Amino acid sequence: MECDGCTLCCMVFPIPWLDKKAGEWCPHCDIGVGCKVWDNGVSEECKKFVCAYNQVNASPDMRPDRCKVIFEKVDKTMFLGTMHPHYNDAYKKKAIQREIKAMLKKGFSVVLNSYTIDKPIIIAGRDRRAKDVWLSLRAQSKERYGYG
Ligand code: SF4
Ligand code: SF4
Repeated sequence: MECDGCTLCCMVFPIPWLDKKAGEWCPHCDIGVGCKVWDNGVSEECKKFVCAYNQVNASPDMRPDRCKVIFEKVDKTMFLGTMHPHYNDAYKKKAIQREIKAMLKKGFSVVLNSYTIDKPIIIAGRDRRAKDVWLSLRAQSKERYGYG
């Protein structure tokens, strides 16, 4: 993997092409080490996913398996953080709060979600309303994954 191979994304997200539900470990995952089928083509779709930890100069405590949140830069205005389904308070941690503050300072809005909470936590950036942030995220999801 071009990432640290923390493998949290191989558990947190539903993966339709593997018929894997959110919160279940993928059977191809060597937990905390990497993907066992990375080089044989099975995971071509998986290769498209890159979390923000690999894109920005994040501190080591922000590695998803440590902080329990997988951040993705959705577009020029928004970050989405998907929390580990057993750690829905993860966004309260000091390291995450520090990161959220930095994102807001740069003008981003931040949405925190989990597959085990009913409502996302939306922190709208300046001059935006939470409702607009949510509608925009739904539209992006629809475009990228076919549902929103
Ligand atoms: S959550 Fe991010 S750092 Fe961890 S394996 Fe997935 S892409 Fe890599
Ligand atoms: S196929 Fe590999 S990269 Fe894709 S979810 Fe499974 S372990 Fe992760």
